[in-house]
Amino acid sequence: MGDAAHAKRDSAHNRGDAADVTHDETTAGPHGDVIAALALADPRTRLVIWNGRIWNRERGDKAWRPYAGANSHATHVHVEILPARRGDASPWPWSPEIWTAARSWPSAPDQT
Ligand SMILES: [Zn+2]
Repeated sequence: MGDAAHAKRDSAHNRGDAADVTHDETTAGPHGDVIAALALADPRTRLVIWNGRIWNRERGDKAWRPYAGANSHATHVHVEILPARRGDASPWPWSPEIWTAARSWPSAPDQT
């Protein structure tokens, strides 16, 4: 998963260890901040780049650091997995079936 620009410089995409998750406020999908937070909470995640910030589990990051790459990743969240977790194909929390189900949980009863 990656475009031509990624193919030239980002080997994690070429290995199948990274995906770009679109932040698109015009759809019902989750906001990039939510995608990034969910990615950090998932044990498969090795590295996340989102909106000018980077987080890397292997560095022992406890928080985001500024990201100075040419692409600030303001329109998509770059999520890279640990190669050892490659075999775990369980769906990610932002996948449409899970995200849509979570959003359709019944709301509180109307009190009128
Ligand atoms: Zn990417």
